[in-house]
Amino acid sequence: MKPPKDLDQQFHVAHNAAFERTDCLDCGNCCKTTSPVFKRRDITRIAKSLRMKISAFSAQYLRMDEEGDWVLQTAPCPFLQLDDNTCGIYDDRPQACNEYPHTNRKSMSGVLNLTEQNAQICPAVSRIIQGFMNAAEVRK
Ligand code: SF4
Ligand code: SF4
Repeated sequence: MKPPKDLDQQFHVAHNAAFERTDCLDCGNCCKTTSPVFKRRDITRIAKSLRMKISAFSAQYLRMDEEGDWVLQTAPCPFLQLDDNTCGIYDDRPQACNEYPHTNRKSMSGVLNLTEQNAQICPAVSRIIQGFMNAAEVRK
């Protein structure tokens, strides 16, 4: 199906509405179940903040996945504080964590499959998709 012309705007409105009703500190599911991609600049920044050598940080926490990206060795994320779902490296967290669940990207057309997958992980994304499905049902 061809995406609507105002796809980005529809997502941004739905994203804001979904996150008004969602407190990530009550959830933490992304940090518990999936790994962000760690870009080189993320690794450099986080290793520095932890006062670790990049090589030691990578050996302790990261592995290279099938697509050649650096990801966490374990889940939940070792930086997630399980008692309150806060991030122990919040100010230095990977860019991918900052942008998750990617539903307020400037251009959404390239991440629709990812968004569908994230609906299985993130209750806010699930709400967004459900809202679109309900609206489509009403238009029928
Ligand atoms: S670095 Fe922080 S925000 Fe990113 S997955 Fe780990 S706990 Fe979550
Ligand atoms: S899965 Fe979604 S709602 Fe839950 S913490 Fe992550 S971004 Fe927030």
